[in-house]
Amino acid sequence: MCSVVGIYQNQNASKLAFYSLFAMQHRGQEAAGISSSDGVHIHTIKDRGLVTQIFKEEHFKILKGYMAIGHTRYSTAGDDSILDAQPVFARYGLGEISIVHNGNLVNAKEIREELIKKGAIFQSNMDTENLIHLIAKNYQKPTLKEKIIDAVKRIKGAFSLIILSRSKMFVIRDPFGFRPLSLGKIKSGGYIVASETCAFELVGAEFIRDVKPGEMITFENGEIKSEMIFEPTPKQCIFEYIYFARPDSNVFGKNVYSVRKQMGRELAKELPVNADMVVPVPDSGVAAALGYAEESGIPFEMAIMRNHYVGRTFIEPTQEIRDLKVKMKLSPIKHKIEGKKLVVIDDSIVRGTTSRRIVRMLKEAGAKEVHMRIASPATTGPCYYGVDTPSKEELIASKLSTEEIAKYIEADSLAYLSIDGLVRAIKDKKENYCFACFDGNYPIL
Ligand code: AMP
Repeated sequence: MCSVVGIYQNQNASKLAFYSLFAMQHRGQEAAGISSSDGVHIHTIKDRGLVTQIFKEEHFKILKGYMAIGHTRYSTAGDDSILDAQPVFARYGLGEISIVHNGNLVNAKEIREELIKKGAIFQSNMDTENLIHLIAKNYQKPTLKEKIIDAVKRIKGAFSLIILSRSKMFVIRDPFGFRPLSLGKIKSGGYIVASETCAFELVGAEFIRDVKPGEMITFENGEIKSEMIFEPTPKQCIFEYIYFARPDSNVFGKNVYSVRKQMGRELAKELPVNADMVVPVPDSGVAAALGYAEESGIPFEMAIMRNHYVGRTFIEPTQEIRDLKVKMKLSPIKHKIEGKKLVVIDDSIVRGTTSRRIVRMLKEAGAKEVHMRIASPATTGPCYYGVDTPSKEELIASKLSTEEIAKYIEADSLAYLSIDGLVRAIKDKKENYCFACFDGNYPIL
C-alpha cells in the first residue's frame, strides 16, 4: 500500500505535500518523496525512511513552486531500494514529468517485456516506470494529455495516479476505483488530491468529492477539468475499511471509524461470546472492539498496551524478527486480565503470528479463557491491487480451517465476521466493492 498527494496552486505546495504525507504515513513507512514544479523545472527529493526523517528545512528551498506531488511507499520484503522510491521523474520529448502511483498493475510484466524488446532501459522494479516509457515513446499523439490517456489505457489493475508536468497536474483513478482518492479545496488557496482525507484536516482543506472511478482531472491555468476516460466499473477495496485507512478518514464516501465500529457490532450479533470483557488488539482492533462492546453490553477494557515506538510487525522479512517485534510491541495489563474470560478483537489474521502471540501472552498473564473474534472474513487469497498481503501459501486461512487456526493460535475459540456481516456494516451496495482476498473473485487478472 502507498499514499499519494497532489497540491495545485498554493505558494507552500511542497510543504503542504509534506504535511499530507505525514498524515498518511500509516500507508507506507519504507520511503517517501516529493516533486515540485516552479514552472521551469521539476525538482525531486526522495529517500528511504519516514517522512519526518527524510525532509529537512533546506529541502523546501529546492522544492520550489506552486505545484507539488508526493508519495509514501510501502512494499513487501526485497523491494526497498531507493530506486523504487517515488515520485518517478523523467525528462522526455515534451520536457519534464513526474509520477506518483498507488496500487499495483496486473499486466506490468507483460508491458515491461514488450518495452524491453523495443530497447527500453529500466532503472527500478516498479510497475510505475512502465508508464513513463509508455508516455515518452508515444510519438503519434502531440500533447502530454493525449499521451497519458493512451498510456493508462494500456495498463491494467489498480492505479490512483497523479502526474506532474512543469505547468499541469493530471489525476487519474482506474475504472474499478480500487484505491481511494479524494479532491479538496485548500483554504489558503488551490486544490489538493490525496489518498485519504485525513491529509485535508492537517493542511486546512475542505473535502469537495472523491475522484470517480474511471475519471481524469486536469489542473491547468488555475482551473480544473473533469472527464471520464474509462467506463466506471467500481470495485473498491474493502480492506481499506478493515485495516488500511486511518479511522478519521472518509474513504469511498464513508467515515472509516464508523464503518469499523459497525463491523464490531455485526460481529457481536453474529458471534456472541459469554465473556467478562472485550479487549481490542491495539490499534487495529480498537474501533471494532468498541462496537462489539456496545452491542453485547460486555465492558470494554484496553487490557493490552502498545508500544508506539515499534513499527508494524508485518513489514519484517523473517519469521524470527516478526515474533520478536510482536513481543516488543504489545504487553498485557496483568491485574485486569487474571482469572477473566476475554473476547479479543482484531481486524484480520494474515499469517497468524500476531494472534498466536497475543493469546499466549494473555494466557501467561492469567486469562481464564481467550476467545478471538475477527472483524473481517478469513483472508484466503493474496491481493493483486496494492494491499501487500503475502502469497497464498503464507496465508494461514488458505491452508487451515477455522478450528485448526484456533488450535494453532491456542485460543479457546475463534470466529470471523461473515461477508454478509461486512456488507451490512458498510451499508452500501456489495457489487461496488472488491472482496477478492476473502472470496477469490478477482475483478481483473
Ligand atoms: P499476522 O500476524 O501475519 O496474522 O498479521 C495480522 C496483523 O497484521 C493484524 O493485527 C492486522 O492488523 C495486521 N495486518 C493485516 N493486513 C495487513 C497488511 N496488509 N499490512 C500490514 N499489516 C496488516
